[in-house]
Amino acid sequence: MSSEARERLLQYVSFNDAANEGVTPDQLVNDAISEALLNQPALRNCLIPGCFKQMDAISCMNGHKPPRPEWSGQGWRTLGSGTIFPAGGHICPDHVETVTDHLPRRLKLPSGRWSVECACSWTPTPQRWHGILRSMWEQHILTVTGKLPDAPPVTDPEHRTPLSDLTEADLADLYDRLWDAETDREETRQVARTCMTYYTSAVPALLGVQTSLEALRSRIVTDSRDWSSDKLDAWLWAVLVGLNCENTEAGHVHDDDCAGDQGLWDMARQHGIPTDQAIRTGQLRWWVANAIKVAKQIEEANPQ
Ligand SMILES: [Zn+2]
Ligand SMILES: [Zn+2]
Ligand SMILES: [Zn+2]
Repeated sequence: MSSEARERLLQYVSFNDAANEGVTPDQLVNDAISEALLNQPALRNCLIPGCFKQMDAISCMNGHKPPRPEWSGQGWRTLGSGTIFPAGGHICPDHVETVTDHLPRRLKLPSGRWSVECACSWTPTPQRWHGILRSMWEQHILTVTGKLPDAPPVTDPEHRTPLSDLTEADLADLYDRLWDAETDREETRQVARTCMTYYTSAVPALLGVQTSLEALRSRIVTDSRDWSSDKLDAWLWAVLVGLNCENTEAGHVHDDDCAGDQGLWDMARQHGIPTDQAIRTGQLRWWVANAIKVAKQIEEANPQ
């Protein structure tokens, strides 16, 4: 290690001064230089475009005082990878709220292209290179904070570019959008097809179950037997007919004319059925009643 500045510095260090420290003048100067290098601030910028705040990552990490008070890391936040900042990003205290409201999540689309899902629900046109997402999000931030004018909608005839003004890049962008629309359409069709397959097999099954359950119910309620004295009979009645009032109309108050909400508990007490099994019986009843209710709704919506 040798340089003009170092030589000049050495001239100021007497042999005795160094000896008092137990080292040679050379070592004393070397130590000072390496310490200065080690403690160099490592400044990080706020990721919001146009913000000039900086913080010193070294003093912040070591818990030391920053070399300048304005480089303090207090109140700064960090964005991890998995966002559009692959190496992570730093946010100054002034912009924590903005970034929280517009937290950018990187999206890889089935078409293999990239987009951003902003916390505010903004999503840009998918791109082939993910590195461009950060700039697009920055433009979005500048727009929502009022520093850039709003982009005109592409479909607005007032803002349509005349055919003769379209460049090759414009056309490439339009074809990209077309490609996305085609991919979207194919995906939507597949989802619709899957839903239709399930619907066409589930609905007849549900309507059949409704028929069976209603047949069981009318068989039971028209039977002359006392369905409350035997434990199994009482349980069948509780599941297939129901012991509690099932009126779900808003404002309904149980009265002497309805079954009220104690029937199931009374039956459980009468037959020594434990609470958890009584609750389970209530659930089984709910599923039966709900299946019949949903089947009726489907029938009403699609009269045969
Ligand atoms: Zn900032
Ligand atoms: Zn946003
Ligand atoms: Zn009631």
